[in-house]
Amino acid sequence: MRSLRILQVPRALRGDLKTPVSPNIVPVLKSIGRAIRTMEEPAVEKIAEATQEDPFRVLIATLLSAQTKDAVTAAASARLFKVARTPKTVAALPVSRIERLIYPVSFYRNKARHTKQACRQILDEFGGVVPRTMAELLTLAGVGRKTANLVLILSHASRDNICVDTHVHRISNRLGWVKTRTPDQTEQALYRVVPRKWWPDVNLYLVTWGQNICKPVYPRCQACVASPLCPRRGVTKEGRS
Ligand code: SF4
Repeated sequence: MRSLRILQVPRALRGDLKTPVSPNIVPVLKSIGRAIRTMEEPAVEKIAEATQEDPFRVLIATLLSAQTKDAVTAAASARLFKVARTPKTVAALPVSRIERLIYPVSFYRNKARHTKQACRQILDEFGGVVPRTMAELLTLAGVGRKTANLVLILSHASRDNICVDTHVHRISNRLGWVKTRTPDQTEQALYRVVPRKWWPDVNLYLVTWGQNICKPVYPRCQACVASPLCPRRGVTKEGRS
């Protein structure tokens, strides 16, 4: 399990202290944090640990992971990084080679093109180093807030970001922490209701929970440690435990 380090704390994205915190948030996060200790970590977390939080490989693995199963992301990342693992060496590969290396991740053609383009930008505009700010990361091809937040949390030890993917979005709504329609809305809403010390943990906890228990279809509520505190908003059918 990754350890979280403390860095400087910019004032950006501070939570609104006047917004009431849902009483179930901290108990649920504590319960899930304990329960996931025996579960497999998400692929990008494992890659971060295996590469000593190398920002470049975390960035590329996160790009590849969108709408792709973890096992496929892990295998595709391993194939690509075996051939090239720096912005310079990846940028030197033809897009068609990157496509073959990362196949069958979803949208592999777009992702190959974005990967090469992002590498070129890192070389030309950032001196070969993955940038450390949200604004700069968002200028890279294929990088949205989810990817940027995960790079900031996993590789730059930021404690000022919450990374929201589809699991975090779905589960936060089911738990009644937020009432939102998009992951970006959820991210902003979570800054207001989740106590700051838990921000870097939200992604790891809820992604692991979403892959194992609170699945998109048929969540396993009977096996869920959050069950006594969860209003199950939007859940119509539960899976077997
Ligand atoms: S009780 Fe059900 S809906 Fe609520 S977090 Fe657990 S699995 Fe998800």
